[in-house]
Amino acid sequence: SFFQMNTSSSRRFPGVSRTLSSGRSAPRRGKNASRTTNTSVSASNILTPVFASIMEGRSSARGQIGLAAINLTTMDFHLFNFVDSSAYSLLKTQLQVLEPVEIIICDSINERNSNAVLHEAVRSACDQATISAVQRRYFDGARGHEMYRLLRARTDPNSKLENSTDKELCLAAFAALVKYIEHIEGFIFATSSIRITFHEDDALCVMDADTWENLRVIDRTSSARGKDRRTIFSMLSSGTLTVTGARLLRASLLQPLADEDEIAARADAVEEMLEKPHLLERSRSLLACAQSIDSILPVIVKKYREKTVVKAEHRIVQLVHLRQTLQLVEKLRQLLPNFVSPIIAVKADTLLDDRIEEIRAILDETLNIDILSLNGRKNSMDARNQKIYAIQSHLSTALDVSRRAYEELLKDLHADTRELDECMPEQNVQLAYSASRLFHYLWITHDANRVPVPPNFINVVRNKASLTFSSRHLMRFNDRIEQSVCEVMLESDDVISEAIDAIRPHVEVLYTLIDTLSTLDFICALVVYATERDTVRPSFGGSVIIKAGRYPLLDVPGKPVVPNDTYLTPSSHFALITGPNMAGKSTYTRQVGSLALLAQIGSFVPAEAASLPIFKRISSRVGQNDTLAENLSSFAAEMTGMAGILASADARTLVMVDELARSTSVEEGIGISYAVIEELIEKKCFVVFTSHFLDLATLDASYAAVENFHFAPQVRQTSDGEVLDPSHTLYRGSYSGPLYGFEVAELAALPSSMLVRARQLAQRLHEEWKTRREEEEEMMETREILRCAHAFRELLRHPRTTTTKANLLQLRARFLDVVRARNAVEIGEDED
Ligand code: ADP
Ligand code: MG
Repeated sequence: SFFQMNTSSSRRFPGVSRTLSSGRSAPRRGKNASRTTNTSVSASNILTPVFASIMEGRSSARGQIGLAAINLTTMDFHLFNFVDSSAYSLLKTQLQVLEPVEIIICDSINERNSNAVLHEAVRSACDQATISAVQRRYFDGARGHEMYRLLRARTDPNSKLENSTDKELCLAAFAALVKYIEHIEGFIFATSSIRITFHEDDALCVMDADTWENLRVIDRTSSARGKDRRTIFSMLSSGTLTVTGARLLRASLLQPLADEDEIAARADAVEEMLEKPHLLERSRSLLACAQSIDSILPVIVKKYREKTVVKAEHRIVQLVHLRQTLQLVEKLRQLLPNFVSPIIAVKADTLLDDRIEEIRAILDETLNIDILSLNGRKNSMDARNQKIYAIQSHLSTALDVSRRAYEELLKDLHADTRELDECMPEQNVQLAYSASRLFHYLWITHDANRVPVPPNFINVVRNKASLTFSSRHLMRFNDRIEQSVCEVMLESDDVISEAIDAIRPHVEVLYTLIDTLSTLDFICALVVYATERDTVRPSFGGSVIIKAGRYPLLDVPGKPVVPNDTYLTPSSHFALITGPNMAGKSTYTRQVGSLALLAQIGSFVPAEAASLPIFKRISSRVGQNDTLAENLSSFAAEMTGMAGILASADARTLVMVDELARSTSVEEGIGISYAVIEELIEKKCFVVFTSHFLDLATLDASYAAVENFHFAPQVRQTSDGEVLDPSHTLYRGSYSGPLYGFEVAELAALPSSMLVRARQLAQRLHEEWKTRREEEEEMMETREILRCAHAFRELLRHPRTTTTKANLLQLRARFLDVVRARNAVEIGEDED
């Protein structure tokens, strides 16, 4: 065999060492999906186990990286080749999008330590994943190419890979991944059954994990902690009805489009549905019936070496499910031609594909539709019979025979009343069936608590008005019946396998159908959002021009959010924002980022008007304000983050920087800020930069690109004097007011009288500070002289010791300096 099996554990991969693993076993997210009980699609139940494989280039291909990944639920393979200088950061981002539970890498990387960079990138991107090293020989590009041709669904339009040699790396990673999955999951991939997408020059916008976090795009931590924070994803996904739609939404939010036509295609569809609400309504009622249509794919793709009853039952259920899904196609065929927007209208044609009918025909020939369409209340016996009779008769003699055996057994069981007749004559005892207890006796009687049960009956369970029990005789029957049911299932599985083999050549059409439904669901979710909020369709151009934009996550009905404009042009592309605490600086940076993000997934945006460039990159960094002990590391992290942004920033980058260098000293912070700002200006990227270093505001004098903005507090007159309220309104120009933090204190429930007093004090101090600064130089000198005089008097009071003498001499020198500087009366050196 390709691998020599390790006998100690079938889950082990020969030649695999998990030395790089973090020790914890990775959570299999897919298995937890059932925990969420609400019907809306949440972040946690769209994540399914993803496996990834990485191959690094050597010698001439050094610095290039190939990545292959598969989602074991959707059976979607994705191949990536990263070639340019940012290969590692692109790999990291892609891993963060994929969130694999396990990553396999070539074990030679493990041996020569030179590849710490890759290891570090992988570890930092997926600290939860298990990393397994696999022998180098499995990373075979030529073999990967062969597998690609063999496994991919026929008529896959994505044939870019043919005749190409520069895809070596990802094909090598693919080869190893296929073998690894087959080995540890215990199935083989059926030929011509999987969709393999090759990503090369995808026009996508790059964001990184910090930016997702800062912009609240998605909550990557809460599923572990069990609470869902509000995110842009949660805001939009409440409008999705299918898991595949939510998955598309998630992928789009993490990697928005960067191609104007693709964005316009989505926005066109959103706009159309906004204009024709009946289309939205019909689409949504249809989607509500299409819960998880992709669960059929693993059934078609996976081929197991051995049959089991559980798998057989699962396959039957899935085929029945598929049959029901295909019923949606008819409705879709009627619905989709009503759309004008190409992105949806084009899908209408895919539904005319003959292969859909062929699959339906295969299912109709195989499945016993009458039995399966049994509606209404079903007892456990009906449910079981549905499975037993799911397959039509006369398709397999063996199946028919096993079913007859089952029927005979049931007949025998019902006829065999000897036991009851002998031991419990004239009692209301009958045979009953439940899924957990199987066949048992049920005795309905008022005295269920007390009536004696003859000793040959066992497993007595007394309820209020009935009691149940069994007997050895009955249990033997149960055993035989169960055995017979298993035989029926295994025989059914042979028929199912044949049906699946027949369906497989047409599987491509199922991928298309899933795409159609998920696109429709995704667009509907955007429409739901656009309907519920006051939004506008953004246009695209060379500048960021947003009129009355609102931060989407604060923009909830009933709570007033203060709208703000944004205006950034190629010549004035740097907005420097100052203002007091709690004014809304951070919120504003998130607002600009979120609006750009929404615009690039094809969504409408919460604003009165919006025009934006299409960004290739959206990056956001937030300064940490940690405790002193952590300062150094958070500062270092901040600077590394900034360096990462600077390395790839250009005129098509949007950068949000919030309170850079907050945890360091003022001098250092200002110095670093200057340096970073100059670099950002040089790179010509669009920047929203907030800072509490008011001195930075002078930058607009030296750089035409910099424009100052500030959040000014609102002055409110109260009986206790003036109170400053944050207005959350952005003004042009730099800020010169006080830096207050009282809202924070209010949250901490300080008495309001104290706050009023504190505000007054702060204001007075601020005024004093201002007047002091305005004082004349002369005043300052006079004051210094007075200070000297005061010191003289103090010293003269003390007895003359040597120290006072020295102090006196020092003071005299200082005094002379001041006076000389003032060009006052000449005082002789010798005068004592
Ligand atoms: P800063 O970064 O200036 O300290 P934040 O952005 O953290 O301020 O905002 C402080 C508080 O003000 C937050 O609780 C936020 O909800 C609220 N806020 C900020 N901007 C707005 C706005 N435009 N409209 C309404 N509330 C806002
Ligand atoms: Mg802030």
